[in-house]
Amino acid sequence: MPLVCLLPAAPVMKPNYRRCISCRRVAPKPEFWRIVRLFPDRTVQLDQGAGRAAYLCPTADCLHLAQKKNRLGRSLKAAVPNTIYEELGQRLSSTNTASPPNSVANPSGAKQV
Ligand SMILES: [Zn+2]
Repeated sequence: MPLVCLLPAAPVMKPNYRRCISCRRVAPKPEFWRIVRLFPDRTVQLDQGAGRAAYLCPTADCLHLAQKKNRLGRSLKAAVPNTIYEELGQRLSSTNTASPPNSVANPSGAKQV
């Protein structure tokens, strides 16, 4: 038996890993926002759809960079409407700045359910 393993040709990028278009961080696909330019009508939308996709960290820094430097538009080779950035911004504010759990700081010590 020859000692040949079934190593993939490109072991650096693991399957289902993607790269952020802003900071170039590599992470599992579910960690990123997915922005996709649909084929063939060039509509840009989030999450779902078949076409050319770009991935972005769900952080304010990467969102701003993608918008300011048009990283997203260049990556998708399409104009990205402001509504895309607005929607991502809303997701950011609804997830990252989530209210801290009540159990951490409760000055009164009373539990109100
Ligand atoms: Zn990033």
